[in-house]
Amino acid sequence: MSLVTTPAILLRTYPYSESSRVLRFYTRALGLVGVMARGVRRDASKGRGAPGTFGEGVAVIFVRETRELQSLQEFNPRNARIGLAADLQRLAGASLAAELVLRHAGQEPHAGLYDLLSRGLDRLEATPPRALASDVLALGWSIVDLFGFGPELSACTGCGRVLDGDEMAHFDLDAGGVRCSSCSTPAGSRRIGPGARAQIARFLHGDLGAAAPTPDASAPLQGASAHLSLLDDFVTCHLLEGRRPESFRFLRPLAAADRHVPARP
Ligand SMILES: [Zn+2]
Repeated sequence: MSLVTTPAILLRTYPYSESSRVLRFYTRALGLVGVMARGVRRDASKGRGAPGTFGEGVAVIFVRETRELQSLQEFNPRNARIGLAADLQRLAGASLAAELVLRHAGQEPHAGLYDLLSRGLDRLEATPPRALASDVLALGWSIVDLFGFGPELSACTGCGRVLDGDEMAHFDLDAGGVRCSSCSTPAGSRRIGPGARAQIARFLHGDLGAAAPTPDASAPLQGASAHLSLLDDFVTCHLLEGRRPESFRFLRPLAAADRHVPARP
């Protein structure tokens, strides 16, 4: 058994018994780790407060290789991110990120993922409302990319031809990428113009909310609504085995702010 002190972000908590909770952290030293926290529910009833989801700080964890749930000695959230809990849409964006990390992160440490998550959650908490959709998209797509599921945006998934810079294409969800105008496309697939492809490419690289609008009047994939819907379908299909992330329901109102969002392809 070893005692590990590590930066940690609390992603989810479950009640376990009268007095205990199971906490799931993404940590810098241990990757994804589940711990049993004894006494936190009792502490909460005495007003000391159980740690809030998405809080980040230093966790001290007793680790025994052979067991599934480790034992939490201490967690001091220095960055409580209470601004996320206070806003349903910010919370939904954070929950989407958590859902992807809980599903795909392993127990091996990954500093890049830790930093991406930490920075992304800070950003979701502080970003102005008009940039929130872009920040949710950037965090979501960059996590998708980090796990190796990034969509193919430049070469046709049917024939391999690299799309022209101004070519209108389709997005083939099952194939996980674009399909050129010469190849047949599955029924119901979205059309996707060069502006939208470029925008998604920026999101994949985590350009948080900073993407400049590129005018393209003919592009049917427009604005936050279409971008959120594509990310929703993509993660459902490729990362969550057909289970739709709960959080998207709460992100829909962001689509109403389309005209304010610099995500127009
Ligand atoms: Zn093709």
